[in-house]
Amino acid sequence: MILKNFEALKVYLETPRNIVIIGHKNPDGDAVGSTLGLKHYLDFKGHTAQVLMPNEFPDFLHWIPGVETVYRFDRQNNQCVKALKRSDIIFLLDFNALHRVGDDMKNTLEKYENDFALIDHHQQPDDFEYMYSDTSMCSTCQMVYNFIDMMGDVEMIEKNIATCLYTGIMTDTGSFRFRSTTSTTHRIIADLIDKGAQNDRIHSNVYDANTFSRLQLLGQSLSNLQVLPEYKTAFITLSQEEKNRFNYEKGDTEGVVNYALSLKGIVFAAIFIEDKEQGIIKISLRSKGSFSVNKFARSYFNGGGHDNAAGGRSTESLEDTVTKFKSLLPNYQEELKVSYEE
Ligand code: 5GP
Ligand code: MN
Repeated sequence: MILKNFEALKVYLETPRNIVIIGHKNPDGDAVGSTLGLKHYLDFKGHTAQVLMPNEFPDFLHWIPGVETVYRFDRQNNQCVKALKRSDIIFLLDFNALHRVGDDMKNTLEKYENDFALIDHHQQPDDFEYMYSDTSMCSTCQMVYNFIDMMGDVEMIEKNIATCLYTGIMTDTGSFRFRSTTSTTHRIIADLIDKGAQNDRIHSNVYDANTFSRLQLLGQSLSNLQVLPEYKTAFITLSQEEKNRFNYEKGDTEGVVNYALSLKGIVFAAIFIEDKEQGIIKISLRSKGSFSVNKFARSYFNGGGHDNAAGGRSTESLEDTVTKFKSLLPNYQEELKVSYEE
């Protein structure tokens, strides 16, 4: 755990400030929940906080309290630049390095002399003036809860903050089932329910938001599933043509990789999603046990993340990317064999 200049930050936040809060590109539930949860808290404290996101986020997150106030860098560039210009400090949430907001936004951020404050649970964080980094945490939302607690303000958490933070803890832990979910996580979740988070509603808003075509796309993904039992590995491919056929929209493939990991005996799962617009194959990797997909993604696919959940990309074709992936597996046969004992 790294806690850098926290006391100084606490003093700095005793005076009302203009604050910008930024989440990572292709924001997920934890990025949206943590940024908006922190925004509501800082606004309550008398600051003026504005959330900026690099690009759009999935429909199933559009009900979260405060989403309508978010500026998107790719669409509302002027508002974003204005907010950055008048900001005193910039919070970076749920990512570890500036390139995770995308090149355009990174280039803009680097122009500002403001101090940055990082709150994040990813490995290999870059160095910033203020830091709260803890890779053992299940989610940035749990860290925002801790941050508010360390500020001595846990009693300020009300329904909107609780709802935001509950959402990100829920989505980043796969509904409280991944290894990172601790008894402390459950205690915090219990407290968030006491403070007004409606757990049944939140689950339903996020997970019962399927469209017919999204389920058909899932059907296609599952029929593309391939299993390599000798490496305890399973993977899914999804071509641009298949995405188009089922009216793909952002977020439609969220969580699909977990079906590959749900196969009995599988400890390593991947999904390769073709994105013709960006000219890349987006890769999501998941594992069970000691096999680190963060290391794997960093070594071969220009990515990173956590030990059991990471992502990356390839500029080769879908077919060549899969061939490369398969060719790497023999090097890890032993590691995969012992990664997770049933
Ligand atoms: P997902 O597979 O859901 O896109 O991402 C899983 C985890 O890996 C997330 O925590 C995400 O932040 C991280 N991640 C995904 N793609 C990348 C990437 O290209 N670079 C890095 N450093 N992390 C990534
Ligand atoms: Mn996260």
